Amino acid sequence: MNSEQRRFSKRSKLITALVVFFSLISAAVVYFYPRLKQASIFDKTNNREDSLPAIPANKIIPKKKDKTIYLTFDDGPCTGSRTVMNILKQEQIQGSFFIVGLHVCKSSSQKIIYNEMKKNNQFEIYNHSYSHALRNRFKYFYSQPKTVIHDFEQCEDSVPFSTKIIRLPGRNTWRMETVNFTDIRASKPAADSLFKHGFLPMGWDLEWHFTNHSQLVQSEETMLKEIDTCFARNNTRIGNHLILLTHDRTFERPEDSAKLHKFIKDLKSRNIYNFEVVSKYPLLPKDTIGIPKTHVIN
Ligand SMILES: [Zn+2]
Repeated sequence: MNSEQRRFSKRSKLITALVVFFSLISAAVVYFYPRLKQASIFDKTNNREDSLPAIPANKIIPKKKDKTIYLTFDDGPCTGSRTVMNILKQEQIQGSFFIVGLHVCKSSSQKIIYNEMKKNNQFEIYNHSYSHALRNRFKYFYSQPKTVIHDFEQCEDSVPFSTKIIRLPGRNTWRMETVNFTDIRASKPAADSLFKHGFLPMGWDLEWHFTNHSQLVQSEETMLKEIDTCFARNNTRIGNHLILLTHDRTFERPEDSAKLHKFIKDLKSRNIYNFEVVSKYPLLPKDTIGIPKTHVIN
């Protein structure tokens, strides 16, 4: 090999080495660049998250709502029912209305209120008798079980209900498969007869009392305390479920409806209560709801 051939050979080896070197560099770039880029983005994301202000723990972890309150309103429909419905709609809370057949049929304005109540899925309507114990003649009414049955059936005939849940006028009496409670012994035969006829009498755990002039007795603050006490002492028919009895007519006056509104807002703000209609009460049979609730009375 002459000197010129040796030079050519050296140059070829150098070129080959350079080609190999740059090929390795290119391969390394192709392999490592996406990974380095991803790592870089990840680091930036982490840094960005770290720089955000800390979210208060109570905003992240929802409190468990393990207590349920059933707001029940008796003796409607009446002017107070409309006030109650407006508050419940505003606060998006369900309500259970135990209505009196006679009150529905009594006036055209009360029929309109009934129809409004019936059409809104937020509310459920239950049978509270036709005559409200022959217009509050409680002792005589409950001494006549047949009259009692007839009165509740008359209410069903004039106002269709989607359930057999009823509330006895003036009596905190319960008849369900697993509950049998009578507050006034003289009404026991009537309550037993109602249950035999397929009705499900439901009472209450706590009452918002009213005076002879339909004015509220307890303040809304007192009611909140009474609810706390009931739950704390497990003083309800079943634990963590409280049925509250109120009356539509006690919320007719603006100052009283304001109390109801504040009471509901305060309950909601605690974020520990569910609000349900009484057809969801755990002790009821599963097939409690039957007939569609779209019927309108003319
Ligand atoms: Zn009543």
